[in-house]
Amino acid sequence: MCVEKTPWEQVIDFHGHTCPEISIGYRVAQIATRELGIRPAPSSELVVTAYTHSCALDAFQVLNRATYGRGNLRVEEKQQHVYHFQYTGTSEGLQISIQAELLDHLVKDHDQMTTREKQNSYLEAIQYILGTEETLFCTIQKL
Ligand SMILES: [Zn+2]
Repeated sequence: MCVEKTPWEQVIDFHGHTCPEISIGYRVAQIATRELGIRPAPSSELVVTAYTHSCALDAFQVLNRATYGRGNLRVEEKQQHVYHFQYTGTSEGLQISIQAELLDHLVKDHDQMTTREKQNSYLEAIQYILGTEETLFCTIQKL
């Protein structure tokens, strides 16, 4: 029997490990897909601009088909978990900004932790990121 992988499994497979940042990317990618709706024209490409480099980017490569190689995944380093999505040929973009409180929640001093403790803290963070209410996760703006 062939069981298709879930989007989450596809993202984790591609990314190579499970971490809080990839779960941020996963959720942002899904919100973007929902908010953007259908592709405006067959020739239109989705361009994703991330304002910080992180593990989150790999989720956009899998779920939004915005790849670094094709040049439609871009990073402008501003140290901010802010993500901009726009189809080429359209004037409206979508900006998703991760709430500062959510990011604060993730900051932990991992230096003093054992591997097991680190893993548990990661799992806790991932559950929080994927499970928290959307308004506590991010703000969505149409630009
Ligand atoms: Zn990662």
